[in-house]
Amino acid sequence: MNCDKTSLRNQLLQQRQALLAEVWRSQSDQICDQLLACPQFMAAQTILVYQSHRQEPTLDYLFTHTHKQWGLPRSVDKELLWHHWKPSEALVIGKYGILEPDPASPLLTPDLVDLILVPAVAMDARGYRLGYGGGYYDRLRSNPQWRKIPTIGIVFDFSYVETLPTDLWDLTLDAVCTELGCRL
Ligand code: ADP
Ligand code: MG
Repeated sequence: MNCDKTSLRNQLLQQRQALLAEVWRSQSDQICDQLLACPQFMAAQTILVYQSHRQEPTLDYLFTHTHKQWGLPRSVDKELLWHHWKPSEALVIGKYGILEPDPASPLLTPDLVDLILVPAVAMDARGYRLGYGGGYYDRLRSNPQWRKIPTIGIVFDFSYVETLPTDLWDLTLDAVCTELGCRL
């Protein structure tokens, strides 16, 4: 267990959970605005996203204001399975209390995906990501087929730090987007 990661994770999660609902909402919408101005987002047709959990920046604004093909994950054993999802389609509560797509909805394969928006507890200036400690996105991206798809980590600016503690299996993302901008 990486103790540096654990204490930083707890501290940043506490800080995020303490955001007032209206600040969380307006900063999330600003992140969505930044993404709307990002060429990689504009060019992408099929985008893997997430449902906000524990005050992660919500992407709801994108779901209601843009016409893209979306993919949402379902956590099965230690893997993420990706399903097509339309914002009008109902979600179910999955493992960890995260909203997930209907297991019967069609699966997405990497060849169909243009971009991955990755939720994070923190990101650093080198592109390293701190997650909840499950290693789900590290495992996903250890597969070369998923690895070649561009990734943008999504965090509020207070969670964008200079240098995160890392382990050997941590992989960098290609970009980070906060309410203050997207950096590639
Ligand atoms: P997170 O990325 O969610 O912050 P960590 O980087 O601390 O979490 O990783 C959590 C766990 O995931 C580690 O115990 C690690 O062994 C496992 N893990 C990470 N990448 C892989 C991989 N490519 N294959 C198998 N297990 C992995
Ligand atoms: Mg990791």
